[in-house]
Amino acid sequence: KRPGSFVGLDIGTSGCRALAIDDQGIQIAEARVAMPEPVRPRPGSVEQDPECWWQSVQEVLSALARQLQGQPPIAIGLDATSGTLLLADADGRPIGPALMYDDRSASEAADRIARLAPADSPARGPGSSLAKAISLAEGLAPEGETLALHQSDWITGRLTGRYGLSDWNNALKLGYETRRLHWPDWVRTCIPGTVGLPRVLAPGAPIASLDPAVAARIGFPPTTLVLAGTTDSTAAVMAAGAACPGDAVTSLGSTLVIKVVSERPVGSSRYGIYSHRFGDHWLVGGASNSGGRVLRRFFDDREIAELSRRIDPETDSGLDYYPLPGPGERFPHHDPKLEPRLEPRPSDPARFLHGLLEGIAVIEAEGYARLAELGAPAPTRVLSVGGGARNTVWTRLRARRLGIPVIAAEHQEAAFGMARLARETMTSTTLASHPDPT
Ligand code: ADP
Repeated sequence: KRPGSFVGLDIGTSGCRALAIDDQGIQIAEARVAMPEPVRPRPGSVEQDPECWWQSVQEVLSALARQLQGQPPIAIGLDATSGTLLLADADGRPIGPALMYDDRSASEAADRIARLAPADSPARGPGSSLAKAISLAEGLAPEGETLALHQSDWITGRLTGRYGLSDWNNALKLGYETRRLHWPDWVRTCIPGTVGLPRVLAPGAPIASLDPAVAARIGFPPTTLVLAGTTDSTAAVMAAGAACPGDAVTSLGSTLVIKVVSERPVGSSRYGIYSHRFGDHWLVGGASNSGGRVLRRFFDDREIAELSRRIDPETDSGLDYYPLPGPGERFPHHDPKLEPRLEPRPSDPARFLHGLLEGIAVIEAEGYARLAELGAPAPTRVLSVGGGARNTVWTRLRARRLGIPVIAAEHQEAAFGMARLARETMTSTTLASHPDPT
């Protein structure tokens, strides 16, 4: 048995997690560290000093290394928050703070993008990394060359000493054309000429070995290969185990997000749908405003668990709810004025919860039907993740509505998805078959 291990690193919204699996895919070590809160200098602005990510990454990898004596890492794969971006010089030194995934300050840049970008471009809106790159570049002197780097791009840079690389999942919100694998002309027109766009690789593509100084500091072998990263949500889908066309992942967190693996990309600006490259396939996703946030308005998690035991998932509630936290829905129905439908409210709280769970299950089924109507495959099985995935009564109720198996995903951690990708990359021969990035 080979003694090596495969490391996944996740730079998430609240902390940094690292995890290692062995050559059989079994988890053998884990470490996590909290990350400092970002700063909010103005309404809509959410900023962070990238150096504090790097401190956390070194800390978490050092902690992991101490658990991996005898099973040294062979490769590291990583993911980070999607749409978090900074500008750096050619040596990777940050120029100012990073604008975080939830920063919405780049509205002027978004207006400029809106005039040039295709209607269904994921680079639209003030949260896109393209809007952030333009906004950050505006305050700079016109002479110096800079690189636009996502959080994950910059961390792979710190690990390897090589900057100016990204992956096609992160680069999607920077305007990269993932169908044809190039930077379209309109992106170059939008962005100041001094800002260099990254070269885009497949997530998991080998970049380089660890910088020897970094390797020594964190206690990893200098031979450890660093792989191109991806976004946190794509990594979580990998962790859940979706792989073949028809595999679907429903996230029952604060909001309801559904995704299905498809043989071809599907997009719709009306419904806010776009597709990520996903191995040799595509991942098509849509997000409803419904979800666990509505449940939390009425019940805490313990009440949900207790009341659920009194619900018979084989029968209908007789209620016809459309649970929303407030007016407005994007997907599976595009209606900015859609009102929540939560009446009549029965006196029995278990029956009320039944109606809520059923209402969300109907939206889930309508969501998959909408994706299919737009060209994605009908799901053949659904892996559930998020807080609602552990509810077995809800799972049964959803399976009955969908008419296909619904399973709680064994793994939900993005870091696990990246460890799995690292292991697959290092043990597969399909790497050479990926199209060449431009
Ligand atoms: P997020 O990360 O999106 O904030 P989580 O994945 O942690 O959310 O899930 C939290 C949500 O899960 C809450 O909105 C809560 O209402 C819901 N939830 C928690 N426990 C249950 C349960 N047993 N059944 C259904 N929903 C649940």
